[in-house]
Amino acid sequence: MTLTEKILARAAGRANVEAGENIWVNVDTLMTHDVCGPGTIGVFKREFGADAKVWDRERIVIIPDHYIFTADSRSNRNVDILRDFVKEQNLPYFYDVIDDPDGNWVFDPSQGPLKKQYGSNYAGVCHTALPQKGHTRPGEILLGTDSHTCMAGAFNQFATGIGNTDAGFVMGTGKILLKVPETMHFRLEGEIQPGVMAKDIILHCIGEIGFDGATYRAMQFDGPGAFSLSMDDRMTIANMAIEAGGKNGIFEFDEKTQAMVDERCKANGTRSTYEPVEKDSDEKFVYDLVVDLSKLEPTVACHPDPGNRKLAKEMSSTQLDRAYIGSCTGGKTSDFIEFAKVLKGKKVAIDTFGVPATPEIVRDLQSTEWDGKSVWTILQDAGVMMTENAGCAACLGGPVDTFGRMNSPMKCISATNRNFPGRMGHKESQVFLASPATVAASALAGKITDPREYL
Ligand code: SF4
Repeated sequence: MTLTEKILARAAGRANVEAGENIWVNVDTLMTHDVCGPGTIGVFKREFGADAKVWDRERIVIIPDHYIFTADSRSNRNVDILRDFVKEQNLPYFYDVIDDPDGNWVFDPSQGPLKKQYGSNYAGVCHTALPQKGHTRPGEILLGTDSHTCMAGAFNQFATGIGNTDAGFVMGTGKILLKVPETMHFRLEGEIQPGVMAKDIILHCIGEIGFDGATYRAMQFDGPGAFSLSMDDRMTIANMAIEAGGKNGIFEFDEKTQAMVDERCKANGTRSTYEPVEKDSDEKFVYDLVVDLSKLEPTVACHPDPGNRKLAKEMSSTQLDRAYIGSCTGGKTSDFIEFAKVLKGKKVAIDTFGVPATPEIVRDLQSTEWDGKSVWTILQDAGVMMTENAGCAACLGGPVDTFGRMNSPMKCISATNRNFPGRMGHKESQVFLASPATVAASALAGKITDPREYL
């Protein structure tokens, strides 16, 4: 069996499963957020009753992160609906925007978009917050009401997005009916070269198969090149499995996985026992690709879809209006560090927005110093508009006052993960997906630029 099949078989209480079978599995963790949480709660109450209790309060994680720093009252109200439900059900894992459990969330636009407006429990973008807060565990099943839930596959976990109806059912029962996906195999070999990042690896892979090339399939990344990657890198790759239509993305377990999971479970007091799955010798794949990481170059997914692949060096005639770094995919500490390495001591030529994924990342960047200056200040000095309000921000457009949202037709290079028309705001805007290093080089030049020109 493949890694995915092994996890699903175990969760179904079976010795083995085959691709295409429909099986009932026991869910380990259910995550929801402010956009889909209210709908999920509505389905749960409608189907199980107004006084129903969730199947296991320790296994539900609620993370508001999407439409948070906006004056839109309906968006603010969604966070209040989550808070009321958490109180009613006495749920321990709710990462509220405010500290007052009896309060209401209201964003104050008069303070501007850059200064932090959240309390001590706020965790930022759900997929980045889940591992930081000790909710990702190897060998387990994680479901979330968000398509990029597949990011947790970096931790040797079966993780996938589900809709509100399924999530309402899981909330009441802890079970879900799943079809076992076929597995596509991406064997990574060789070493990544300077100026090339994990984002380039996944953009290369999606470019090979197209934005629907992995529809309802598992994407398994393994081989020596996979082991050489950091956990942040693996998260970037697993996150974008859905951009090829993948059911999930998954990596093998190693000492790097163990170190991060153990540290985070311990620090947050979350469940610390888990059982990883290892590769079998008889895995059956429906597709095989060997990727030599040493041959990859900075890559861009051009408008209008994540599979529209070109090399950055071929795109130098594309003038840009703005640059954006942020999101679960591209807003991690390591992403901002690579971004800052290119920008240090220089000035961006176009509007450039920086949105860390989580408050912890804000703190990392404000406390990491190079030559007596924090990375945060280095980026501000380079002209990047850095906000402390960690969250999804303009990655998915959002209400019209969302920081970084494109409210008119323009071209943006972005470290985010999705570029279908209208994704970051105006439906005639164009988004070019790239690594943080390529976004930085392009921000400096005002046109799509290979970051190796600045290294
Ligand atoms: S940062 Fe973007 S991709 Fe990630 S969860 Fe938020 S909206 Fe979705």
